Amino acid sequence: MKKLKNSSRPLIRILAIGNELLNGAISDTNTATLCRFFEERGAVVERSALVRDKENEIQAELGRAVVGADLVLTTGGLGPTSDDLTRYVIADFAAKPLREDPTARAKLEAMFAARKRPMNETNLRQVLFPEGATVLENSLGTADSFVTWVKLPDGEETPILSLPGIPRELKNLLIEQVAPWLESELPMPSPVVRKYLRSFGRSESYLGKKIEELALPDTVEVAYRPMFPEILLTFSESRSRCQEVEEELSQEVEKVREAIGHEFFFGSEPNVYLPQTVSQLLKNRGKTLALAESCTGGLLSDLLVSLPGSSSFYRGGVVSYANGVKASVLSVSSDSLRAHGAVSEVVAQEMADGARKLLGSDFALSITGVAGPDGGTPEKPVGTAWVGIADEEGVRAVPHFYAIERNMFRSFCASAALDLLRRRLLNLPLEWQRL
Ligand code: ATP
Ligand code: MG
Repeated sequence: MKKLKNSSRPLIRILAIGNELLNGAISDTNTATLCRFFEERGAVVERSALVRDKENEIQAELGRAVVGADLVLTTGGLGPTSDDLTRYVIADFAAKPLREDPTARAKLEAMFAARKRPMNETNLRQVLFPEGATVLENSLGTADSFVTWVKLPDGEETPILSLPGIPRELKNLLIEQVAPWLESELPMPSPVVRKYLRSFGRSESYLGKKIEELALPDTVEVAYRPMFPEILLTFSESRSRCQEVEEELSQEVEKVREAIGHEFFFGSEPNVYLPQTVSQLLKNRGKTLALAESCTGGLLSDLLVSLPGSSSFYRGGVVSYANGVKASVLSVSSDSLRAHGAVSEVVAQEMADGARKLLGSDFALSITGVAGPDGGTPEKPVGTAWVGIADEEGVRAVPHFYAIERNMFRSFCASAALDLLRRRLLNLPLEWQRL
């Protein structure tokens, strides 16, 4: 087991190798995968670089990366083709000859035999590793991973972990091989203490301003991640994990909820979206839902149906885009349409009421709005919307205004309707203004 150079927050650097990353053919997703993996383990990814399949360029980047780092990662270039240079460059860089690994060779031969394919001479390149390297078996492909320790002029040693480029193989290797290797050879400190809030209805700048006013402790870092129309807030604590630190962070997060209004936060899981939250609420209560959608054109229906298990609460929806359909299918009165227009409180209420009766659900939501870019009037400019809700106690509709690009507006309206149901189910204020 080796000691970490930066014991509290180990320092990681990444080289993603491949011409295809720099000519625009593919995007580098491996770096993001690696960042997530190491972040969760309390390490800091300090720098990453994209490097072409050029020996001198890889050498130069390696030279910069190894100094002061606890671990250097490379991805790509482990294949059998002539542009796959990683193992050669690393052997050269570490001044170690390449040696054949008998276990890796046996695996490769068995793989080819199982596929009933002859093995090429060039495939044997993939069983060569710098002398003394630890080989980490890739159970999904031919390119095994390996760790090479490089001795620096000052006597320090830095490990270079080389991973294959294929994302599926890289992810699998991280779990199957890298995690246990780290545990035994280079244990990472405790993971970062982190809390999340998912918000709807408050802008990033508003959240930022309110949180700034709270002056949270220096040890708490807040990250804002817009996932339109929601925003994910991440609170990370720089101190090591212990119960006291966990509790203190929870208290700070609670302060944020209070300062902004707890009704604007629908969840504390990083990956649970508003449609999932509301679906779960309905399932827990054994209630059913129907929809009457106008400007969203079925978008909300799609959001719900894309979640597995939606059949347990979702009865169906009407895309009543034309006024005639609002009248004939949902029984919206022609008088209301004439007197107030399709985008109005009364019509939103009648749409919800009509959908509930037609489809026989406990709740119904309606959406009607001016998505633009045309069709706005001085009284009802582009961005005007009404969302309605009907249940056994009656109907309500609330106004919204959000002048943005057409499809973002549709997405906002779908979430505003879902949020209206969430608020109704949790007895929160139904009407609110976007700030
Ligand atoms: P192979 O055995 O396939 O040659 P390899 O380790 O040599 O594997 P590369 O040849 O560099 O890896 O890449 C294989 C494929 O993996 C690429 O064509 C590309 O689609 C994908 N890939 C490589 N690097 C990345 C990256 N950083 N992010 C996402 N995908 C990548
Ligand atoms: Mg390759």
